[in-house]
Amino acid sequence: MNIKVTLSSNKKTKPSKGINLGFGKIFTDHMFTMKYTDGIGWHDPEIKPYQTINLDPACMVFHYAQEVFEGLKAYRGEGNKTMLFRPEANAKRMYDSCKRLCIPPVEIEDFCQAVEELVKVDADWIPEEDGSSLYIRPFIIATDEFLGVHPSKTYLFVIILSPSGSYYKNGLEPVNIWIEDSYVRAIRGGIGFAKTGGNYAASLIGQQKAEKEGYAQVLWLDGIEHKYIEEVGAMNIFFKINGTLITPELNGSILPGITRDTIIKLARCLGYRVEERRISVEEIIGACKRGELEEIFGTGTAAVISPVGKIRYKEENFIINNHEIGEVSQKLFDLISDIQHGRVKDEWGFTKSI
Ligand SMILES: *Cc1c(COP(=O)(O)O)cnc(C)c1O
Repeated sequence: MNIKVTLSSNKKTKPSKGINLGFGKIFTDHMFTMKYTDGIGWHDPEIKPYQTINLDPACMVFHYAQEVFEGLKAYRGEGNKTMLFRPEANAKRMYDSCKRLCIPPVEIEDFCQAVEELVKVDADWIPEEDGSSLYIRPFIIATDEFLGVHPSKTYLFVIILSPSGSYYKNGLEPVNIWIEDSYVRAIRGGIGFAKTGGNYAASLIGQQKAEKEGYAQVLWLDGIEHKYIEEVGAMNIFFKINGTLITPELNGSILPGITRDTIIKLARCLGYRVEERRISVEEIIGACKRGELEEIFGTGTAAVISPVGKIRYKEENFIINNHEIGEVSQKLFDLISDIQHGRVKDEWGFTKSI
């Protein structure tokens, strides 16, 4: 892919060191765009100054939500290196999401090249503070100006970058989660496994309900029987019961998290038994009542690992591990963070220095 590069002549002022960057609020000087036209394929890859996108109000994405997105991070590694974490896994997942949403997929190599070249252009935006990173948001939208319900014949692939602060201001903090037993996020056969906006639109009402009750996140149950654990908001979930880590198997309605996959591999390397299987909410509550539920944690790119301190199910609250960070949660968080920043040898080939 031959990417045309136009550099900004009007660079923004970077946030000063030590300021809390938050998440997804500040954007860098450049963006990547590439167009798709039926009969031509993906064409005109470009890196150019960050700017608004001009779209006709009839554009299909506004009406029928034909879109996919990704989320990954670049880190400032040891020796000032720029490091990406498993970018080809994000490329592969976007390829699969595209297939489900009838969007012509972007080739894995082209996705990786676009991410790498854009991050290199804006590399001086990668924050240096411990735990901070440059969040990378690739997305594809349907751009046909047409109100008929049909896959679009034209698309726009965009990548934007956002320097983000540490998810935790004071180290890992356990969160409280609400087990939702009426609303559902996704069902098997639907679009749950694809990273697409529609899943988030469906989840907002449950999230709002949980927040109103004082819970940070929703734990979703399966859409058919409302019985089996699926995932939390924008994270996958792990339970440690009698020393074994258990996470729901990928069943088509759960998002296949790259952090989830990384945790499974690393936990097995550390000697833990890890099971991917169907797990009911009753099994969790039962283990909790018998004192066998030792830890719960969520996994995702934003927080890496998010320990759970309390769960609520049908009017009842259960405190997990004294509302403290579990030993395994902490160990895995430290190991992944060290790999991402190049502080330990990456024996798994997860990181890519660019
Ligand atoms: C992105 C996402 C995750 C986490 O995936 P990672 O690749 O680990 O960041 C989990 N659940 C949902 C719904 C997501 O969109």
